Amino acid sequence: MNSAALLKAIIENAIDGIITIDSRGIIESINPAGCSLFGFTPEEVIGNNISMLMPEPDHSRHDQYLSRYQETREPHIIGKGREVKGKRKNGSLFPFRLAVSEVQYEGRVIYNGFIHDLSREKDAEGQLLKYTNKLEQLVEDRTLKLQSLINQLQDAKEEVSLSLEKEKELNQLKSRFVSMASHEFRTPLSSIQLSASLIDKYALDYQNPNITKHVNKIKNAIGNLTTILNDFLSLERLETGIVTAQLEELDLVKFAEEITEEMQMVAKQNQTIIYQHTGIKRMVNTDLNLLKNCIINLIANAIKYSGENTFIEFNTEITNQKYYITIKDDGIGIPKTEQKHLFEPFFRAHNTGSIPGTGLGLNIVDRYIKLMSGQIEFKSEEHQGTIFTLIFNI
Ligand code: ATP
Ligand code: MG
Repeated sequence: MNSAALLKAIIENAIDGIITIDSRGIIESINPAGCSLFGFTPEEVIGNNISMLMPEPDHSRHDQYLSRYQETREPHIIGKGREVKGKRKNGSLFPFRLAVSEVQYEGRVIYNGFIHDLSREKDAEGQLLKYTNKLEQLVEDRTLKLQSLINQLQDAKEEVSLSLEKEKELNQLKSRFVSMASHEFRTPLSSIQLSASLIDKYALDYQNPNITKHVNKIKNAIGNLTTILNDFLSLERLETGIVTAQLEELDLVKFAEEITEEMQMVAKQNQTIIYQHTGIKRMVNTDLNLLKNCIINLIANAIKYSGENTFIEFNTEITNQKYYITIKDDGIGIPKTEQKHLFEPFFRAHNTGSIPGTGLGLNIVDRYIKLMSGQIEFKSEEHQGTIFTLIFNI
């Protein structure tokens, strides 16, 4: 194969389009790749101005480009290459990389254009750009959502702290009211108590058993009310931090025996409180008033929440390091699911039915025990009974 034939074969089979034009811009040759890129047959383009393959504004200006180059020799594309747009026969445009070289051949100037189609690259680029934009949009959307979530959270936080503040104020108002009311009720209550006792005394002459019955009812009711008011006042004093433990030496056994006697008087019919002490030692260091209050509360509960004809076991034990106080009944017990609320103020288990109470007793006991650096434990089973244990270090 001679070199001309080889060159022709190379041009004919090139992947890129190759077009030659003369110095006026008239197409002299186009290879098959160039034809398929533009969608023309060679006959349709050869002899025509190269501008037929260009969209505006290059289409109208190409002649000027050529003559300017020929005058000034200042290359814009020739010898450089650039990305431009081509126009197909069907009018559609496509991007390609154009490299133009100038050839002097037999005393004539020929311009040789190499056309490398960039459609696929541009498509991929476009796709990538679209994808990037989509991603950016997504990120922006998410950021916006996050921001609005953060704002909502911030608002909610402010709302919560506002309502907390309000609740605190309300609580203060409530406890101030309760303590004021408790103080105010005590004076009229004691005059009712006094009057009831006087009626009792003067009514002796009338010998009417109903009078005694009703006076006793009044006295009992006053007793109950006084206990409730005292609980309210204890809470208020605990709340304001007035109460502190004043430790003193105490004969625990004597103390417990006195309480047993006292509580036996308020026990139900045939309800027996059995007191027992274990250990050689009898003396402990404690706050007498706080401890008495706790034990009375626990025994009162044992009495209240167990039936007639039962035993209530009251035990004390002093070891080398600790002393223990337990109160055990076999009454209604505390339902397992409610036990976690036991020491909350105003808590009353659902099985208490019509048994009276305010639900303050154990809350006060718990706080007193803490003031004395002790521990309170309990075990309870519904219908089986309850045992409370107070534990203190010696
Ligand atoms: P009060 O303030 O008059 O003592 P209360 O007895 O109802 O009223 P707490 O002593 O605090 O209040 O007891 C809270 C609740 O725990 C009771 O309502 C009851 O449901 C349960 N409870 C406490 N002790 C016992 C017990 N020994 N047996 C069964 N339930 C008990
Ligand atoms: Mg109670």
